[in-house]
Amino acid sequence: MTDVVDRTARKGLRPGSAPAAKPLDENPTPAVDVEALGRQLLGKWADVRLQARQLAARPELHKIEGLTHTDHRARVFGQLKYLVDHEAVHRAFPSELGGSDDHGGNIAGFEELVVADPSLQIKAGVQWGLFGSAVMHLGTAEHHAKWLPGIMNLDIPGCFAMTETGHGSDVASIATTATYDPAAEEFIIHTPFRAAWKDYIGNAANDGLGAVVFAQPGHPRREPRRPRVLRGPAGSGHQGIPPGHRR
Ligand SMILES: Cc1cc2nc3c(=O)[nH]c(=O)nc-3n(C[C@H](O)[C@H](O)[C@H](O)COP(=O)(O)OP(=O)(O)OC[C@H]3O[C@@H](n4cnc5c(N)ncnc54)[C@H](O)[C@@H]3O)c2cc1C
Repeated sequence: MTDVVDRTARKGLRPGSAPAAKPLDENPTPAVDVEALGRQLLGKWADVRLQARQLAARPELHKIEGLTHTDHRARVFGQLKYLVDHEAVHRAFPSELGGSDDHGGNIAGFEELVVADPSLQIKAGVQWGLFGSAVMHLGTAEHHAKWLPGIMNLDIPGCFAMTETGHGSDVASIATTATYDPAAEEFIIHTPFRAAWKDYIGNAANDGLGAVVFAQPGHPRREPRRPRVLRGPAGSGHQGIPPGHRR
């Protein structure tokens, strides 16, 4: 048992004349409303967090230890569909497309997803938080209508192709170029030197079908500086095309 001493009561006492310590109440009433405090700590998006925690607790979203890299990747891709089916990843998107224009709630739900499996959280973050939000925030109404429904429902798994080996947050230094070829009606993506390679792009190795590519406008025809959505197997540029001319 812990004794407490009222120090204010000791003021003015002579040394050696300390008062008797008072015992604590044997059955104290809690001074803290634990449930209310817990709710308070959940913050503004409490309901989203609780909903996301319930989802993250489901075994369907957990990692199975011992799977091969390939099998784990396939499982996580399947889990993305589970998130779509359970309305867990559309909060930030426009309400007219089935989202709820709730950016804070989206981040709160994303944060909670990490406890299910960090690989799932990051793959979901690439699909909807990077790829999807780049189309939404940097694209036009035409891009939204054309791309967002498929991005939201996962018909178009995609990539956010910003980072290069030598260039990360400093986007103005990006060295990849995108040059429009009017005859082919395609962009030629060129990485002119090793540090311009986009080596670290999530979803690029296997699952991506589209990408928002951060690039400098190429020559001869200069294009406005805007990220482009390119359609096609994202990993195909690694096969048969020499380094420096990936598409
Ligand atoms: C889990 C995860 C997944 C990711 N997935 C992708 C992906 O799919 N696609 C993708 O493109 N990227 C992705 N990234 C981001 C990428 O991997 C890099 O981390 C990011 O681009 C930052 O680059 P960097 O690490 O080289 O840091 P740097 O760019 O070197 O930045 C280091 C520090 O310098 C500061 N800094 C940089 N430039 C400037 C400047 N000009 N002025 C002032 N300060 C500056 C930065 O703020 C930072 O504090 C992902 C990152 C993580 C963590």
